[in-house]
Amino acid sequence: MSRYWSEVVRGLSPYVPGEQPKLANLVKLNTNENPYGPSPRVLEALRAEAADSLRLYPDPNSDRLREAIAAFHGVEANHVFVGNGSDEVLAHAFLALLKHDAPILFPDVTYSFYPVYCGLYGIEYQEVPLTDSFEIRVEDYFVPNGGIIFPNPNAPTARLLALGEIERLLEKNSDSVVVVDEAYIDFGGESAVGLIKKYPQLLVVHTLSKSHSLAGLRVGYAIGQAELIQALTRVKDSFNSYPLDRFAQAGAVASMQDREYFDQTRHKVVATRERLVSDLAALGFEVLPSAANFVFARHPQKDGAELAASLRSRSIIVRHFKKPARIAPFLRITVGTDEQCAALVNALKTILA
Ligand SMILES: *Cc1c(COP(=O)(O)O)cnc(C)c1O
Repeated sequence: MSRYWSEVVRGLSPYVPGEQPKLANLVKLNTNENPYGPSPRVLEALRAEAADSLRLYPDPNSDRLREAIAAFHGVEANHVFVGNGSDEVLAHAFLALLKHDAPILFPDVTYSFYPVYCGLYGIEYQEVPLTDSFEIRVEDYFVPNGGIIFPNPNAPTARLLALGEIERLLEKNSDSVVVVDEAYIDFGGESAVGLIKKYPQLLVVHTLSKSHSLAGLRVGYAIGQAELIQALTRVKDSFNSYPLDRFAQAGAVASMQDREYFDQTRHKVVATRERLVSDLAALGFEVLPSAANFVFARHPQKDGAELAASLRSRSIIVRHFKKPARIAPFLRITVGTDEQCAALVNALKTILA
């Protein structure tokens, strides 16, 4: 605290991102990055961008990128908003679409950035408990609200909500915006993007950080009807007109255009996940059904924090959340390469022996 801080800053409780350790040779399974590099076409586009043209500002509206994203999803470019990572897109959505008089709703176990944005923008919220099996029950959201947001699959549980359930929620909730954060949808779920034509209150958010192997480039986007996109654009142009630099725009365009590489890598991750799930189960872990590039698992005889610490001493890092109490026994483990997952399983074998 400092006397120079504004009252807003004094009241913040910032998000704490997963560790990015400076040590080499770690098996890094803690922040849901893709274990495979981006498409070679992305690297080529980035090299081409390293030129004298860097003296010029980038396109403030990222038109080429919005067109590439629109083509990828079969929508119009004016239904697409892009930002510096989906975290920025989400932040703008909180201010532009979720800040009303009534509290917004999100699950009690979910992406821990949501309450942080509420704190930043002074938005009231109510946490809706997941079921005992960590599922979202849409009936629990059939109450007056200022908006609804949840990831699908949910984080950190990895559990998927069926598209039919999302549609049931939208049918009962037409007066406020529903944001579906699909950061992990490419690893096993059906996207809600197809519903935006029918539901003007739906905003679907995606990131290139996970399924496109581009966490380091910082690109995310939202898809929704034009009036929602306009609201996000108004906030963006009141904050930073150039959120995506020339590299980010060029690299992201190339990634959206290489669907074959995208499909190859996500299918590899899914195949490794299925092996990891059965290996963990064989060690006695309870693993929640995962539709993501990570698994959420607990061992009935071992404390979650202790397990994470033992793995760390063996140079393997996974994510452990102390809060809320009901998830403290769990580890959130990113699906790495087959070799990384084998190293994890071997270390767990030793620790549990
Ligand atoms: C990773 C993640 C994001 C943020 O992605 P960036 O595009 O890297 O900012 C958003 N929501 C959820 C649920 C995530 O797991």
